[in-house]
Amino acid sequence: MEKHMTVCPYCGAGCKMNLVVENGLIVDAEPLHGVTNEGNLCLKGLSGYDFVNDTKILTPRLLHPMIRRRKGAELERVTWDEALDFTAQRLSEIKEKYGPDSIMLTGSSRGPGNEANFVMQKFTRACIGTNNIDNCARTCHAPSVIGLMDTIGSGAMSVSIPGFEEASCIMLFGYNPAASHPIVARRIVKAKEKGARVIVCDPRVIETARIADIHIQMKNGSNLALLNAMAFTIIEEGLSDRAFIDAHTSGYEAWLEVIQQYPPEAVEDVVGVKAEIIREAARMYATAESSIIGWGMGVTQQRQGVHTVHAIASLACIAGKIGKPHCGVAPVRGQNNVQGSCDMGMLPNLYPGYQKVEDAKVRAKFAKAWGLPAEKLSNKEGFKLTDLPHGVRDGSIKAFYNFGEDPLQTEPDSADMEKTLKNLEFFISQDIFMTQTTALADVVLPATSWGEHEGVFTASDRSFQRFTAAVPPKGECKHDWEIFQEISTRMGYPMRYRNTKEIWDEVRELCPQFYGATYERMEGLGYAQWPIPDIEGEGTPDLYLDGSFNTFDGRALLLSHHWSAPTEEPDEGYPLVLCTVREVGHYSCRSMTGNCKALAQLADEPGYVHINPIDARKRDIRDEELVWVYSRRGKVITRAALDERVNPGAVYMTYQWWVGKCNDLTMHVTDPLSGTPEDKYSSCDVASI
Ligand code: SF4
Repeated sequence: MEKHMTVCPYCGAGCKMNLVVENGLIVDAEPLHGVTNEGNLCLKGLSGYDFVNDTKILTPRLLHPMIRRRKGAELERVTWDEALDFTAQRLSEIKEKYGPDSIMLTGSSRGPGNEANFVMQKFTRACIGTNNIDNCARTCHAPSVIGLMDTIGSGAMSVSIPGFEEASCIMLFGYNPAASHPIVARRIVKAKEKGARVIVCDPRVIETARIADIHIQMKNGSNLALLNAMAFTIIEEGLSDRAFIDAHTSGYEAWLEVIQQYPPEAVEDVVGVKAEIIREAARMYATAESSIIGWGMGVTQQRQGVHTVHAIASLACIAGKIGKPHCGVAPVRGQNNVQGSCDMGMLPNLYPGYQKVEDAKVRAKFAKAWGLPAEKLSNKEGFKLTDLPHGVRDGSIKAFYNFGEDPLQTEPDSADMEKTLKNLEFFISQDIFMTQTTALADVVLPATSWGEHEGVFTASDRSFQRFTAAVPPKGECKHDWEIFQEISTRMGYPMRYRNTKEIWDEVRELCPQFYGATYERMEGLGYAQWPIPDIEGEGTPDLYLDGSFNTFDGRALLLSHHWSAPTEEPDEGYPLVLCTVREVGHYSCRSMTGNCKALAQLADEPGYVHINPIDARKRDIRDEELVWVYSRRGKVITRAALDERVNPGAVYMTYQWWVGKCNDLTMHVTDPLSGTPEDKYSSCDVASI
């Protein structure tokens, strides 16, 4: 029996564990004392390893390359040389015929790690010559990255996960950590035991609401009205930190102009909560010694996602609840390496280390390091992942390279996404499973899985940690970074990395705030929390402690906006709000957790639509009954779960299930500033079958 140290491949909590290997198979997972998990793992961490062993419960592992020689033909098994030659030749032809911006790529925020993503974005920029690169943050925390960069200059969490436990007030906004980040939820329980006050702003009675001092059970889609009313209260009741505002912020007068129009009494109908409860929550947040606001998709997957993040950051600033220990803003990332994908420049406007593509000095630096003339690197911001459907429709995108994601399961309006993928002139998918998306590809490239490769992940709180391989690659699988560099070399831009350390050292050289994060520092249980500019220096658990923000003048920019109603309000035909959520036992598109014995036994298809018993009674629906859920996009069959914790007027579905797929019902309407879909609000109805 052998043990190999790694980091959990599921949520962004970054829990350290050992994988136990017997006769070449992973047979167990043991928690370790990592910086965030301190000897604990949740259900997914403990039971989510055996998909690597190719259990074939849901779908088999991809073990050899395949190509489709022409549209309509079957996928056929080929050698690696044939698959790579075919891919390089087709991409070169498309680049030649339509230009580099006709090719779009998306990185993987899951198991592959930072090195693979770095090489993919280098291939995109240096070899193909476009900035059309994005990652799944587009469908989750892009509004957090943009909204925080606009206000405080950096899109990352300003606090650390262990810091939650030391805060005296924690406000959770549209965030259900018990389902999405159980180890963070555990920290919040421990904070409560130490005397912290907990405020939960959520339409549902989520698990953490049960320990909350105040639960604002708000109406779906009212985030910005609630935050504006809290800011109004803090100003009106003299609870703002005037010294902090004067010394460290700008834009106060313009910010106040909007906020003055939001007394809590004026938004009771919009928020659905009595003004005094809003006022009480604002007082609790502003008067605590240290306060953290944690948020999730309930904030970002809304049409006003970026505006809401502006409101959160501005609220923290006017209350002086940022730039002090255990005090700040915490957009908690969902997939395990979504912070890392952003760190590695899998974004259409940013190079690795959040360096802007429009900045000539930045382009010159990368061009020099990559052996190119500076004019070879595009200064044009690329397409966002959610631009793909209309980019294919209007002919501007001809080829798509999908790396470890399953947009047909995870993106809104799946019928439209299927049409998009089928209408591509050339479609490559590099993955570990034959997902619904990969089955449509012209080239299928089988990659090694978490457990079979090594590298660095970034946890949600900016902590870099190393993970190692436990078992050899299955079948003919290659490491992701090797695949990218082999295609790049065939397309005329040679890359010759021999291992992930060489790649990581290049990342460190090009990104000053990551420089001190050496492999040596991250050996064993070691970690490095960026910014970490020096090899000898420490990392940074709390940002902005010197009162200086990452903006051009060092001041936070206060920004406020008026609330507006969601796009598709309920009406007679579709009287309920559909909101997509998570469940604790499954992850993302379910290709990994659905192939794990213990997790697959938790539930089977179809999943559930959670509905309040009042709404169920009106429709004569019983618990566990099979029902139709329908919207303007389509209808799906699923099971009803009568659930008192759900607010009347809304229903909730998770998006993992192939039968009862809720993204058949959601809309492709996006926040105009981030391109993030409004997955938390579509109108629908439920009926017995
Ligand atoms: Fe893995 Fe997240 Fe659970 Fe930790 S909390 S074991 S990182 S899924």
